[in-house]
Amino acid sequence: MERSIDKAVIHVLNQHKGGNQVQTAWDRYEAQQPQCGFGELGVCCRHCMQGPCRIDPFGEGPTRGVCGATADTIVARGLARAIAGGTASHSGHALHVVHVFQKTVAGEAPAYAIQDETKLKAVAARSGIEIEGRSSKEIAQDLAKLALSEFGGKEEPLAWAACTVTPGRIEKCSELGIVPTSIDSTVAEVMHRTTYGVDADPINILLGALKCAVADYTACHLATDLSDILFGTPQPVVSKANLGVLREDAVNIALHGHNPLLSDIIAQVASEEELIAEAKKAGASEGLNVVGICCTGNEILMRHGIPLATSSVSQEVAIMTGVLDAMVVDYQCIMPSVATIAECFHTKVITTMSIAKMPGAEHMAFSDENAVECARAIIRQGIERFKFRNPDKVCIPQESSTAIAGFSAEAIIGALAKVNAEDPLKPLIDNIVAGNIRGICLFAGCNTVKIPQDKNYVEMVKKLLAENVLILATGCASSTYARHGFMTSEATNKYAGEGLAAVLTAIGEAAGLEAPLPPVLHMGSCVDNPRAVDVAAAVANKLGVDMAQLPVVASAPEAVTEKAIAIGTWAVVGGFPTHLGMAPPVLGSKLVTETLTATIKDLLGGYFIVEPDPVKAAEKLLAVIDERRAGLGL
Ligand code: SF4
Ligand code: SF4
Repeated sequence: MERSIDKAVIHVLNQHKGGNQVQTAWDRYEAQQPQCGFGELGVCCRHCMQGPCRIDPFGEGPTRGVCGATADTIVARGLARAIAGGTASHSGHALHVVHVFQKTVAGEAPAYAIQDETKLKAVAARSGIEIEGRSSKEIAQDLAKLALSEFGGKEEPLAWAACTVTPGRIEKCSELGIVPTSIDSTVAEVMHRTTYGVDADPINILLGALKCAVADYTACHLATDLSDILFGTPQPVVSKANLGVLREDAVNIALHGHNPLLSDIIAQVASEEELIAEAKKAGASEGLNVVGICCTGNEILMRHGIPLATSSVSQEVAIMTGVLDAMVVDYQCIMPSVATIAECFHTKVITTMSIAKMPGAEHMAFSDENAVECARAIIRQGIERFKFRNPDKVCIPQESSTAIAGFSAEAIIGALAKVNAEDPLKPLIDNIVAGNIRGICLFAGCNTVKIPQDKNYVEMVKKLLAENVLILATGCASSTYARHGFMTSEATNKYAGEGLAAVLTAIGEAAGLEAPLPPVLHMGSCVDNPRAVDVAAAVANKLGVDMAQLPVVASAPEAVTEKAIAIGTWAVVGGFPTHLGMAPPVLGSKLVTETLTATIKDLLGGYFIVEPDPVKAAEKLLAVIDERRAGLGL
């Protein structure tokens, strides 16, 4: 199978073809064939030591596990635990940001400051915190207290969920009993109810999973809001994306993972004259070159215009260019193989978080009280490794595309305000009504070895853009579109249908760009997916309808992680039909599969659409958009 449609990735992989030293995720995937069919269908269980139990999907072997659990129960439990895993990851990320936010307000983290007071006040006011006549510090103290209480120990619905969606969503979720009161206790509840001998009712387990997905939404939204307050709310910025951003004449340091707490400080410190001089002294005539990988890359691209090197599935390929001097990782989506591959090159892999170490990497503990010193020490490690580069192993692909990123909800509203200052949403709504914007699709999620990297994303987006669907993108989806040139004004002229192109041109010109807005708007990292909900909720509230009535859909055509399953599930709870390019491990239960793809539509409006063929997937999403338009009388 073709491994990637990214020419830069293919170039580097071809360079190492036939070698037996460098094994990538694609090689290891091939070595895993055939993968376990029971696992793929979700009909295996290891939740107690009487297992593992497996249900025969053909009905000829065992139909129940040792305890009597059926395929429906086992599949529902597995899915709920995957969502809990994703939620725990986002909770850990969000709680880390809350702790640094608290320390910042208390003056205990000198590297950080409240950089966006407007956002601080907006989030506080939305959450019911008094802002009139109060200092930023007083407001921030109350917001930190509220944020911390979201993780446990309260009885009221989660504020970050209740305040950011339409009243119709809250009503629906309340009716189903899926409004959580704390993030971490909801994760614990899923682990409890899915352990040996607790919840055996598949539908009841699924309701617990949906509640957990709402907790995941809360964690993501909270992390995004507090990161914006600490580091600034993204605004449009022009940069570059793909492996061609690596430079032979500079010390290349890649920041990889998810949380901006360390990477933002490294991005700031990397412009210090003293460090640049040290890099030059080491022989790098162009000094320092910081690049991003995965969602940490998206965070620093959105806020600092730092170039994006590549996405999750091709993280190893960045090392295989032979010019990456240090790969600095925080947590999530970091393959343990990067340390093994780095042994074949000179790259130093540096872990920074106590919960995310790996054999073969050097650990440099990150301290948020001492963030600037940590950042400088890490950069110096990269400078040190530059001296050990082997020129014979250097292989930098030429490919890099211009990418305009930084489209937070605030930036989108800001651009629309240039067209209509009094009523910024009006131009968007008018154009949806007129059909110039037929609908909106949010692309999210990862890249997987199971599909040629980027193929589904690119084929789907070409079709949707030609049909006047405005595209929002986050996570590795946004990396794909940045690397393939979909985040430029030229892409609007090349790919967008007539109506969409006219709207993007009018907004771009009103904003003083003298060119159209890109047809794919980079909204940030995976954690930033709620930014898209903010736009949808604002439009729905203005129209006086529920989010589930809007011609807005979502797609994760190359999803991998438990986090992606959690995000996809809360998109469904939010009322958005959500496409997956591959089925999660649920097909072993007809009941669970039908509930998630059909029954849930009547309950929440959102539902999953599984379609591996990208052209058919785009057609299905267009049909859903048209159904929603007809429902609104458009
Ligand atoms: S536990 Fe499940 S996935 Fe693992 S080998 Fe057994 S059947 Fe396969
Ligand atoms: S919980 Fe039941 S189905 Fe799961 S491993 Fe134990 S006995 Fe088997």
